[in-house]
Amino acid sequence: MARNEVRGRKRRRQSGGNDEIITLNNVSKAYATGAPALNGVDLHIRKGEFVFIVGDSGSGKSTMIKLLLRELVPTSGNINVMGYDLVHIRHRKIPKFRRNLGIVFQDFRLLKDRNVYENVAFAQRIIQASNKEIKRNVPSILATVGLAGKYKAKPRQLSGGEQQRVAIARALVNRPSILLADEPTGNLDPKNSWEIMKLLEQINENGTTVLVVTHNREIVNAMQKRVVTMKKGVIVSDEEKGGYIDED
Ligand code: ADP
Ligand code: MG
Repeated sequence: MARNEVRGRKRRRQSGGNDEIITLNNVSKAYATGAPALNGVDLHIRKGEFVFIVGDSGSGKSTMIKLLLRELVPTSGNINVMGYDLVHIRHRKIPKFRRNLGIVFQDFRLLKDRNVYENVAFAQRIIQASNKEIKRNVPSILATVGLAGKYKAKPRQLSGGEQQRVAIARALVNRPSILLADEPTGNLDPKNSWEIMKLLEQINENGTTVLVVTHNREIVNAMQKRVVTMKKGVIVSDEEKGGYIDED
């Protein structure tokens, strides 16, 4: 009986437990050259968490994001995201898996020749949403990100902060369970950086699990969220209500 209990606990831990939405077990990723970008990383994230990932340039943060998107496959170890085993997932299942992920980058990556509305609608068209759904969902998400009056603007007519809001709307319009953001405020001034982080916090409060890679020390220290710190491919600290760890 006692032995069964131990086994049961172990199994639960390996499979991530019920409310775990992201699990990395002993994950390493080596590129063709250089030291491994990730080296034996364990990370467990529960549904509904807000997590900052911080660390020096080159510490493996973007590699981790690419592994979570299944853009890369680990060299060793296991990754489970929303119940999908990302090492063994079939290629034909990857699009369905990705529908439940929103992704935002530092450089916005908008379609330059399309207006705000079309940039967001594009994500809905990819999943073959009906015109009726698009007409309902796009205005709704643009209102959420504070761009209700800007449907017809092209990206070049918008500030950096506004462009990032369009990118966030596009990432959210299909209602993903997880939003991944890789340095979303890297190209923004402090005021816009704060506004974008507050928007990400609001999105999290509405139930989306949010992972944010950032170098913004002041915001990380002020927001009092879980902070995972990486260094040379390893997680060196993981703190609830953490701060930015100063390098010597
Ligand atoms: P971060 O996002 O924390 O700056 P990255 O995950 O981009 O770090 O990079 C981690 C390490 O992996 C760095 O040493 C980087 O040079 C290396 N790296 C990243 N992408 C590649 C690649 N496509 N080929 C070879 N090395 C890479
Ligand atoms: Mg990076």
